[in-house]
Amino acid sequence: MRIALGMLTHEANSFSPQPTELADFAGRQLARGEELLQGWQGTNTEQAGALSVLTKEPDCTVVPLIGARALSGAPIQRQVFEVLLGEMLARLEEALPVDGVLLVLHGAMMVAPGVGGDLPIDDATGEVLARVRALLGANVPIVGTLDLHANVTRRMAAKATALVGYQTAPHVDMGATGEAAARILVDTVRGRVAPTAALVRLPMILPPENADHRVGPLHEVMAQALAIEARPEVLRVGVFSVQPWLDAADVASAILVVTDGRQALAEELAGGLAEAFWARRDRFFPELVPADEALARAMARQEGTVVLCDSADSTTSGSTGDSTAILQAALAMLGRTGTPLPHPLLLNVVDPLAVATAIEAGVGNEIEVSVGGTVAPRYFAPVTFRGTVKLISDGEFRFKGPGMRGMLHHMGRAVVLTQGNIYLLVMERAVSQWDPQLYRSVGLEPADARAVQVKSPRAFRAAYEDITEEVIIVHGGAGLQAGAASPELTALPWRRLGRPIYPLDPDISWP
Ligand SMILES: [Zn+2]
Repeated sequence: MRIALGMLTHEANSFSPQPTELADFAGRQLARGEELLQGWQGTNTEQAGALSVLTKEPDCTVVPLIGARALSGAPIQRQVFEVLLGEMLARLEEALPVDGVLLVLHGAMMVAPGVGGDLPIDDATGEVLARVRALLGANVPIVGTLDLHANVTRRMAAKATALVGYQTAPHVDMGATGEAAARILVDTVRGRVAPTAALVRLPMILPPENADHRVGPLHEVMAQALAIEARPEVLRVGVFSVQPWLDAADVASAILVVTDGRQALAEELAGGLAEAFWARRDRFFPELVPADEALARAMARQEGTVVLCDSADSTTSGSTGDSTAILQAALAMLGRTGTPLPHPLLLNVVDPLAVATAIEAGVGNEIEVSVGGTVAPRYFAPVTFRGTVKLISDGEFRFKGPGMRGMLHHMGRAVVLTQGNIYLLVMERAVSQWDPQLYRSVGLEPADARAVQVKSPRAFRAAYEDITEEVIIVHGGAGLQAGAASPELTALPWRRLGRPIYPLDPDISWP
């Protein structure tokens, strides 16, 4: 048995002003051939999970294609998408014949228009699956993994033999998802199962802050999904609350039920689960607290750590990481009281120029520097910060928490600036903020701070909740003034989003 393994994942955010280029996939995010088999060993990732199943399977050879993953951001440049997909297809063609293909995908990938007048590709995941299918013909099984925030289209479902999504938020089941996909693929190749799926698309987009598989509305739907999945005829159930910042015509939340040859049953189960999901739609919207109020609440505490969740500037939802709303609130508090903050506050911001200035000044020296608002100047205001250069770092660190455990991250060069109890981490490049290792790698301990800024809507909870007393979701400004991942979906400047859709059309009825 020969199984080809490839990965092409990216989560688009149509409101991000920063284009996604080849450099965003380069380095440790891009692996070719044998690197794909070795590079992620021991990590909690889909590819490592899939390999753990495939390498134990008797007489199974894994043929590695390419693996490319970039941090969430604006749609991928057309030529970059063609280069990456072209290489994947060339390697696949060289590897033929194969008995099956396993693709690690996200499901909310989009491609920007090309220079020569090429049209955008809204369903870029569907495009990947369609071109792989065209190369293989109708009979070779293709199984793809998806994020819970996938925009699962009819084209994707039609081109894949089966699609297997994450079932956790905060996402911690990457490895388990890869394992499940590999098992379905192997069982299909061996003729033990014949996957057939029902997809129900729901006209709603939901912010991620309150979507948690352990509590609340998503938990209630996921519990039903897992009960359905326990039935022997059912291979996999997916609940997809969709990346909401996709300004495209065909966007939806979805339920996907994959059965072993039972199409009518799949339709019936998916329909019932979709109704349960739809009925809970208004419970996904979080309470937002203005930055000054959130900071005052945290500083009033005598113990414990508060996460100031700056979700609108979430770098894993496609925002740019250069918001200054909480820093502005801290400086305003200093100005009002005339005394340093009573307790330590950890903040972070992307600003390559400020990093360069601090490195030039050197450790121990005081500088006055403009920070923030450099990547997304239309959304964020720069702030003048006077502080001491405490530390200079090469910006490399590895996740230790449950989500993507073991993955190496690189924030470019980084510095820590301090002013009284304000500790400001300034980095050259945006990076995932799921894990407190972001701060620990530069000598800052979130558990010892009263408040810590985290630019992630939900996924950070898996690694932070042991050291956190409270999470406050900060309102950093109206709509995009808070960042490209603002949860105020009705306040965003949509141009192409297919209507009607909830919550923009609150009275929409379904089905
Ligand atoms: Zn996600």
